[in-house]
Amino acid sequence: MRRPRRTPLISRRSAEEAGLRRPSGPPRRPRYVIALEDVHRVYTLGDIHVHALRGVTLRIERGDLVVIMGSSGSGKSTLMNTLGCLDLPTRGRYLLDGIDVRHYDPDDLADIRNRKIGFVFQSFNLVPRTTALANVELPLAYAGLPRQQRRARAIAALEEAGVGDRIGHLPSELSGGQQQRVALARAIVTNPSLILADEPTGNLDSRSTGGVLDLFARLNNEGRTVVIITHEPEVAHLAKRLVRLADGRIVEDVRYAAVGDPAPDHARAVPG
Ligand code: ADP
Ligand code: MG
Repeated sequence: MRRPRRTPLISRRSAEEAGLRRPSGPPRRPRYVIALEDVHRVYTLGDIHVHALRGVTLRIERGDLVVIMGSSGSGKSTLMNTLGCLDLPTRGRYLLDGIDVRHYDPDDLADIRNRKIGFVFQSFNLVPRTTALANVELPLAYAGLPRQQRRARAIAALEEAGVGDRIGHLPSELSGGQQQRVALARAIVTNPSLILADEPTGNLDSRSTGGVLDLFARLNNEGRTVVIITHEPEVAHLAKRLVRLADGRIVEDVRYAAVGDPAPDHARAVPG
């Protein structure tokens, strides 16, 4: 486990260069949580090159609810890994909260992931044989928070996610929908700038899917920025903005609701 950091993540000068901090005065919150600029990602396997992202430019504002769709192989997971700082672009820039992720070394990136991004995965990724409460406390333990505070915040997050009555249960004692709610509690417990979900309803039946999508809507209505990657049309109904990916490129980008509007109702009747 990593100890809490004492020194700043990046120097004051590089923060100023990145536009995070003016030379004098308080830090400025950039308008875009995410700014990808002409991002390419090429996987190299021997002498074979797979061009998974082919020049993606995408800016996402604070408070938006963006759904990214695409068929299998279109580059969704590669994009998710890039947005989540699990992978760096081969070419192009990624500014997270106004800072170019290339300014960070791998240890810093691990801290960034823990503090700024809440991840939700298709397979929930909860630690087995560990209670819901301990799973949700984990990111706070990495952040070095004292035990009492960890517990209080984890319980609040589990309550917010609608599983406050399941804190002592193991993942194996929870339904898929409940496990995903625990995963969502874990994603929000650090109060991240961004919630990033890759196929979050891929393993859920339609009733659990509805409940989890309602929860994403609520989190967004509280001002959290949400990016959901999916190939399910029902999830797309939740989008304020829908981005389609094909063959490593953005081929469609449509806005259905303003960033400041309430999250759309995914269960509404959609014509066609
Ligand atoms: P999606 O999530 O939309 O199915 P991916 O991002 O997983 O798409 O994959 C995009 C392309 O990149 C595919 O052609 C895939 O085979 C390739 N790819 C993904 N990950 C790797 C990897 N680690 N090494 C080599 N090729 C990869
Ligand atoms: Mg994928």
